[in-house]
Amino acid sequence: MGKFIPLSVPNLKGNELEYITNAIETEWVSTAGPYISDFEKNIASYVGTQEAIACQNGTAGLHLALLVCGVTEEDIVIVPTLTFIAAVNPVKYIGAEPLFMDCDDSLTMDPLKLEKFCDTECDFIEGKLIDRSSGKHIKAIVIVHVFGNMADMERIVNIANKYHIKLIEDATEALGSYYTSGLYQGKYAGTIGDIGVYSFNGNKIITTGGGGMIVSNNQEYLDRSRYLSTQAKNDILYFVHDEVGYNYRMTNLQAALGLAQLEQLEKFISTKRENYFEYKKQGLLLLGFREDIRPNYWFYSYITDYRDAVLQFMERSSIQARPIWKLIHTLQPYKGARAYRIEKAYYYYDHVLNIPCSSNLSKEDVEFVVDTIKGYGEEKQ
Ligand SMILES: *Cc1c(COP(=O)(O)O)cnc(C)c1O
Repeated sequence: MGKFIPLSVPNLKGNELEYITNAIETEWVSTAGPYISDFEKNIASYVGTQEAIACQNGTAGLHLALLVCGVTEEDIVIVPTLTFIAAVNPVKYIGAEPLFMDCDDSLTMDPLKLEKFCDTECDFIEGKLIDRSSGKHIKAIVIVHVFGNMADMERIVNIANKYHIKLIEDATEALGSYYTSGLYQGKYAGTIGDIGVYSFNGNKIITTGGGGMIVSNNQEYLDRSRYLSTQAKNDILYFVHDEVGYNYRMTNLQAALGLAQLEQLEKFISTKRENYFEYKKQGLLLLGFREDIRPNYWFYSYITDYRDAVLQFMERSSIQARPIWKLIHTLQPYKGARAYRIEKAYYYYDHVLNIPCSSNLSKEDVEFVVDTIKGYGEEKQ
């Protein structure tokens, strides 16, 4: 019996224990403390934004992003169907209507279909894009940079600008990915649209246990995100609240972990990159990343015609693999929601298997995974 190889687990061998210990010894464990502002500053300077606002998790960050973009229950938000459900649920928290879009071969939103939908199914009236069949305003688009790959931001920003649609980047899986050429050369995932969100959940490239971060270069959005995340508190002494806010602020304990993790991010990316190419060198068919980016190599997508059989075979060999997410527009809470010409997402749902990709995966682990998958091929013949 071989050892268990998990899909994606934390790697906590840097200054995590030291910083956490310090947070406990100084008794700054809650939603104030120096690690929170340090972590915010370091994220902002790493990705190159004006500021960053730490919050409880990526989902909370996306909820705040929609709110500060002015999305209300009367609006439509265009979302991908091939994504984790947390990218879509906050649209429902607000009571707005999600409209599902297909992916292209990068697994991110297909900009051609997006444009076609806006051009042919909507009217641009008094500076607003109105969906013809419902009469509702298309207020925002949520772009997800799936598995550390990046969406075609040049095309998507053009569409958003043309129709005055707010662009929210769900960069929860793509911290560290950036364009290496083109109009957005040097720009990180999350920093190109109106507002971006990262996640530090346990399976992400860096973790705070649970946590998230909002980034933007729009000071009004930043200030409003901070305000809404701290119960919409208007006065530091008296309990004055001018709006219904949220308790979405990150704690100093989480930020202590995050600060230590961020110090190691580039090291994690280079290990993930090495393992990605090792899998490919050993003959596995992995989905590529865009050629004009430096991806963070967060997840590896193995392409197979025998998804379920390989999955079960790996499971028996104590290797954790997972199919891609069930398409959101087919899930119970979204049955009956609008979906525009979904095609490729079905193909990738059927053919992608995510295989172990942790930043502490060894060369031997990679070999064992590849041998197991190849072994399945031989057993089948
Ligand atoms: C992880 C993830 C989120 C949510 O982040 P949490 O911190 O777990 O709330 C949102 N969208 C996508 C695409 C994710 O992968």
